[in-house]
Amino acid sequence: MRRCIAICLALLSFLLPITGCGSKKNSQSATIFAMDTVMDFTVYGDAGIMPQLEATVREMEARLSVTNAESEIAVWNGGGSENLSPDTADLIDRALGYCRRTDGALDITVCPLVRAWGFTTKNYRVPTADELAGLLEKVNYRNLTADGTAVRRGSAETEIDLGAIVKGELGNRLVKILRASGVQSALLNLGGNVVALGSRPDGTPWRVAITDPAGGGYAGILQVTDVSVVTSGGYERNFTQNGVTYHHILDPKTGFPVESGLLSVTVVGADGLLCDAMSTACFVMGLEKSIEQWKTYRDFEAVFLTGTGEIYLTAGLEKSFTAVDGYVGAKVTVIRA
Ligand code: AMP
Ligand code: MG
Repeated sequence: MRRCIAICLALLSFLLPITGCGSKKNSQSATIFAMDTVMDFTVYGDAGIMPQLEATVREMEARLSVTNAESEIAVWNGGGSENLSPDTADLIDRALGYCRRTDGALDITVCPLVRAWGFTTKNYRVPTADELAGLLEKVNYRNLTADGTAVRRGSAETEIDLGAIVKGELGNRLVKILRASGVQSALLNLGGNVVALGSRPDGTPWRVAITDPAGGGYAGILQVTDVSVVTSGGYERNFTQNGVTYHHILDPKTGFPVESGLLSVTVVGADGLLCDAMSTACFVMGLEKSIEQWKTYRDFEAVFLTGTGEIYLTAGLEKSFTAVDGYVGAKVTVIRA
């Protein structure tokens, strides 16, 4: 059904010129289907900016998608030249920084595992323990080194999957374009990643909803300005076989969907790439290690929804978060330095 809606929206955006999708009160809005998700853009001020935003989405998708056989990443994975475009090599270099920082909770060489579970093609299956053990030998970000435009493989079998970070980087790119053209107010929903540029046109903060992982509504609302809000959760992509649900965020140490006691992690911060890397990594690491990361680096804020129905908030979000729907009355713990 979700796929059907997405296809309908994709057709709609094809049929309507993107700048014509909607406009009111000096705002432009557009919906496109890209990177396997529905994206919504609302921009105040610059009527002509939408095609440039869409072109940026398409360019990054064509260059970085692991499922597009012609992308730089797919060609590299297939044993192609180690030399990549400066943008791609630089992105991998920065992603590797987060792999190191999180001690491999984020691991961009997780590609063979993601494929084995069928998340790449949507032909879902449960690999055997033996198969996973074999694949785990191929997964280790330390086998990758980025040196200028060369991204070297320590092992011939290393493959890259940037699915955990690409929308974060996309958000950063789009913000740069908007700022360069003088836009001061925009809300970009990249599917799980929201970018809130400036504040609403009336000067009040943007209101960004956090999805209830159990479905059927929201868990909370964040009032924010000038940040990315990025959520990772097992509810976002999964399949059920023989009564067991398997989701798409994998533990690089076991090869299985991670069970860290969290239902979702929402990371808020100025740098979309950092937020995307850390939302995935925190989901893998679990609450305690995520708190350690927050205390050590203090470069993001986060909302953690636990499997026991509790909410943990880092101190910087204490005033901007409100529980809603099924989470009204849930126990809220504020994490302090
Ligand atoms: P996100 O929704 O940003 O948390 O990213 C999830 C996507 O990243 C998955 O669909 C996989 O393509 C990939 N992935 C899954 N587990 C990991 C991991 N531990 N480290 C890096 N990427 C992962
Ligand atoms: Mg992520």
